[in-house]
Amino acid sequence: MRGGSIAVVGGSIAGCATALAVSRAGADRVTVFERADAELRDRGVGIALQSDRYEELREAGYVAPEMPWAPLNRRVWSVRDSDAPHGRGFGQQPFPFRAYNWGSLWSELRSRVPEGVDYRSGAVVTSVEPADDGVTLRLADGHEERFDLVIGADGYRSVVREAMFPGISPQYAGYIGWRGASEDVEGLPSDGLDAHNIAFPGGHCMIYHIPDGTGGHHLNWVLYTTPPQTDGLHPDLRTPTSLPPGRLKSELTDWLRALVADNFPPFWADKVLGTPAETTFIQPIYDLVVPHYTSGRMVLVGDAASVARPHVGAGSVKALQDATALEAAWNAGDSWKDVLERYDAARGPVGSAMVALARRMGSTQVENTPDWAAMHQPDFDAWWQEQNSGSDRSSGFGGHSLKVK
Ligand SMILES: Cc1cc2nc3c(=O)[nH]c(=O)nc-3n(C[C@H](O)[C@H](O)[C@H](O)COP(=O)(O)OP(=O)(O)OC[C@H]3O[C@@H](n4cnc5c(N)ncnc54)[C@H](O)[C@@H]3O)c2cc1C
Repeated sequence: MRGGSIAVVGGSIAGCATALAVSRAGADRVTVFERADAELRDRGVGIALQSDRYEELREAGYVAPEMPWAPLNRRVWSVRDSDAPHGRGFGQQPFPFRAYNWGSLWSELRSRVPEGVDYRSGAVVTSVEPADDGVTLRLADGHEERFDLVIGADGYRSVVREAMFPGISPQYAGYIGWRGASEDVEGLPSDGLDAHNIAFPGGHCMIYHIPDGTGGHHLNWVLYTTPPQTDGLHPDLRTPTSLPPGRLKSELTDWLRALVADNFPPFWADKVLGTPAETTFIQPIYDLVVPHYTSGRMVLVGDAASVARPHVGAGSVKALQDATALEAAWNAGDSWKDVLERYDAARGPVGSAMVALARRMGSTQVENTPDWAAMHQPDFDAWWQEQNSGSDRSSGFGGHSLKVK
């Protein structure tokens, strides 16, 4: 099937990859509508891609070796142990991931969007009106455009998804991720080749180094925990949102800082507490599953389609795989209906399986944490296996393989 006018709503990771996918598949005209009017590259946080999933995406032509990255080999889980600088490691696991800076990964993907694609920054889609043979988009500046197919790559608060499945929205998981990126990479154990999870009752903090985009490195961290249900400490997060520094209540940041001071080994407490406040923000954690990835002439990709809690380390992999799957479905299908059915069948079950795995991980890594301080490697291995035991082969930690049908 060739031709067609395609709108991609959202020009972030999923949007850029999908614009590339439909261009390669033979679309006549591709327009990307991206709300942000500045470049997205200043999101300086980290993203880790599992190495085998990276290889598959490289073979498919979506990522490339020249995108700046830092290798990670192992993940070490530790607890505070009196004044021992790095605490006590109670479990280690292989962690074959490539660490990226979100901004440079996006820049590289943006540069791969073909010249012929009309990428419009500062273009906000306010409504999506489906018809039998196409979809009309209305923009914030008042004008309307009609397309044969509209792809929602507009993230977890998607307007395209709302038009497809009104009322289905991300559900707050009950806890938050507090994130930051520090320039202080001095003295990292094993030259930064390990990722570290600092565990404490009621959560953990993952720390790893990422390229800073200019040849050096930053230390990226994200701490997951449930703030107490006390006034001022637990903001109302039922409406999907993320909270930049200026919107953080000082009671909440004071509480988080005290938690780090009390529970982290001194070396890691210094790194987290030394991170400039303006580079920290709160990401409430959400779950989202949709009945289908397609409806009429509308399609969902990336976080617009499903949101798995970040513990599976595969949000970006899933988004990039959605794009490759759409390209494959397009190449195999002989009508819009056929293409969209193939895509939905390929990606819907993967999204649901990933959300289920992420819920199990969130339950045991944040909501109902074990007695980490009493654990040693054999206990850790059994605990890790139990979280993963419900996974089938098609969805696992770091993302499922594109090669498994
Ligand atoms: C700050 C940040 C940190 C992250 N960290 C990690 C990580 O460490 N590991 C990991 O695997 N994943 C992480 N993720 C998630 C990961 O980036 C996503 O799962 C993946 O990249 C897919 O994102 P997406 O493109 O679907 O959505 P998003 O990145 O949310 O992009 C949606 C885009 O749509 C645009 N948009 C929304 N509504 C409209 C509209 N109405 N009109 C026009 N444009 C619109 C937005 O401006 C945005 O650019 C992170 C995401 C963010 C934002």
